[in-house]
Formats: sequence, C-alpha cells, structure tokens
Amino acid sequence: MPDNAKALLLALLGKPSVNGEDNESAIAMYICEYLKANGIDAICEWVAPGRANVIAVIEGRDTSQTVIWNGHLDTVPYGDLNVWLSPPDQPLVLADRVVARGSSDMKSGLAVMIYTLVQMHQKGIQPAYNLLFLATCDEERGGMGAMHFCEQHGMDNVQHLLIAEPTGCQLGIAQKGCLWLDLSIQGSTSHGAYPEKGVNALDIGIAIHQHLKQAFEADQHALLGHSTVTLTKLNGGIAANMVPDQCEMSLDIRLTPAYQSAQVCATLEAFINHEIKVLYPDASVFWQIVNDRMAIGLAETHALYHQYQAIQAKVSKLDVNAENNTANAKAENAAKENNNHKWMAPVGVRYFTDASVLIKSNPEIPVLLYGPGRAALAHQPNEALYWSDFERALAFYEAVYQMTLQF
Ligand SMILES: [Zn+2]
Repeated sequence: MPDNAKALLLALLGKPSVNGEDNESAIAMYICEYLKANGIDAICEWVAPGRANVIAVIEGRDTSQTVIWNGHLDTVPYGDLNVWLSPPDQPLVLADRVVARGSSDMKSGLAVMIYTLVQMHQKGIQPAYNLLFLATCDEERGGMGAMHFCEQHGMDNVQHLLIAEPTGCQLGIAQKGCLWLDLSIQGSTSHGAYPEKGVNALDIGIAIHQHLKQAFEADQHALLGHSTVTLTKLNGGIAANMVPDQCEMSLDIRLTPAYQSAQVCATLEAFINHEIKVLYPDASVFWQIVNDRMAIGLAETHALYHQYQAIQAKVSKLDVNAENNTANAKAENAAKENNNHKWMAPVGVRYFTDASVLIKSNPEIPVLLYGPGRAALAHQPNEALYWSDFERALAFYEAVYQMTLQF
C-alpha cells in the first residue's frame, strides 16, 4: 500500500476506469481496501455490475452535522492514443507534473481527500463534524452512482458538500446547469419552386433554436458568463429542390443559476402552441428531455464561503517565507504575495458535477468545489496534474478537515 500521497495518486492513475469501457469497481475496491488497511471503516456499495461507490464515515466531535467530501471514480475515454506522450493508464512522471487520464479530472482530487483522511486518522485527529467520504461511479455519463447514494442514504443532515473536481486550487462557487433536448418536427414537402405549398420542418427547427437563444442568452453571471443555447445536431431534407418535411435536432442548453430548466421547457411549449401552431397549423413538434442537471450557485456573502476563504488565505501564506529578509527573498515573497491574489478569487465551472444529482431533493444544501486539477486540461489528450497544485490542495484539505463550522 502506498505510504505517501504521490504514490497513492500514481496507484489510482494506474487503475483504468474509463466510463462504459473499464470495470469501475476495481478502483472502488482498491480505495476501500486502502482506507480499511489504514484503519478507516469503508464500504463498497454496488450500484450495477462492474460499478460501485465507496463510502466512509468519520465521526466528528459534533455528530449533528455531516459534510460530504465527494469525487468520482470514472474518467472519459482516451481519444487519439497517438497524441499521448505515454499510454494514458501508465502515469508519466515529469519534474513538474504527471501525465495520465484522470490526473486532473479527478483522481488527484480523490487522492488528496483519501490521503488527508488517512493522515488525520493516524494522528488521532477527529474532524469537527461528521465527515462522509463518497467516491461515485458513472459521473461522466448518467450519474448512476450519485443517484444510488441518494436513494439508499438520502441527504438529510448534510450541512454542505465539498467536491474535488478540477478548479486549479481556487474555490468554485458556481456551476452551470445542463439541459439536453431532442426535438422531432414533422412538416410537409412540396416542390422547391413552390415552398408556400409545403411546411418546412428545418425552418421550424431553426425558429425554435433562435427563439430559445433570444429568451435565455441575455443573462450575465459574474463567474459563469451567460447561459447558452447551442444547436448541436440537425438532420433533415430530401433533395435540393424539395421542401423538407422532417427535422430531427438536439439542443445543448447550459444555464446559469438565473434559470431553471422548467422555464426553458415552458417557453418552448408556449412558443410551439402560440407561434408555430398559428403559423404552421399542419406541423407537429415532439420534444423530450435527454439530460437535466440544475445549475448551482453559492453567494459570495454566504458564511460558509467566508470560512473557506479564510482557509484559502492561510494556505496561500504557506508559500511566503517571511523570516527570510535577504533582498532576493523579499522580491520572491512580493511576487508570491501578488500571485496569491489569484488563489483568493472564486471561480465558476461550466461542466456539471455530481452535485446537481446529490442536492436535487434539497437544492438549499451549499456546494463548494476545490480540486488540484485544472479544468482546461480535463478531457484532453496528455491530461496532466501539476505537483505544486497537488501540494497546495493537500494543505488545503488538511485545514478543511479541522475547520469548525460557524454560523
Ligand atoms: Zn470530473
């Protein structure tokens, strides 16, 4: 069993867990055994064949509150293997970073959380509150692991959720929601020279896309930018001289916390009933939701955010060696202080996480993201993790473990 954080991370990176291709339960069982071997009670909870979650509960001094530390076990596929510097499941250790699939998203986050739990346990330090470590399967696709956890255990008494998704060691306090819609439009064909005699299904599809774009892209979120309505699939048409009677399309809609997916659905339904059906009485439009993950946002005025910011400030100062007064050290410290402003700024992420599944039944539960990985490297060939980010995240999670919640 690895006896340091780096070795633990390399072990996790060496256990392939590509969603839909590998047996995700292998890495789940490894983590479970690792925790147990280090004296922490952990269980592997089966979700489906080849898929399992890992759950470990560490009793706190105050048992009335539980904080969940969450990360996912699966990764996305490798893409073109020729572009990789080394096989993606064989971590390539370089001086400043490690290259492997899952290094940023998010086995580094898992390793930081697991190693912190083990270290604190071995030092006999109890967390201030109950800590529930939850490693989930199937985050990159359907969120089966998070759903299973909610069904089996519920989210009662959960004070907040901390997820180690890649944020580049900044505090993540907002994430976009995601709504995928599939639409099928039926019009009627006619000769291309007499378009007024047909009902152009592609025109209707494009009108729907434009309408939703106008309705939902006007917001502005300080960290997330505006919501987006993107036409991602469009099929239809028979010949260059025929009006298309059929259109199949998909929309990928990413919402800031300003909007709920139900508002988009209601706007779509109203547009179909009050505009499309008036203009084209013979047309029919069928639509369905393929994926629905809500947006999440924590106000910068929230007390919890201030507590995490205090930890962030403390961890940032670790870089600065104030004792050393030589001219060089002073210049170096000034540069570090300057750089530390970056760590204090909160970020928003555009990708969705298991948080949208976990807090679905209780959207009031605050969610924070903090991980050593970098979002820009996730899902990319030669995905990497920088060792300096890893060290910083270890210091951060150790401080979080000992933090007392104050409200
Ligand atoms: Zn992820």
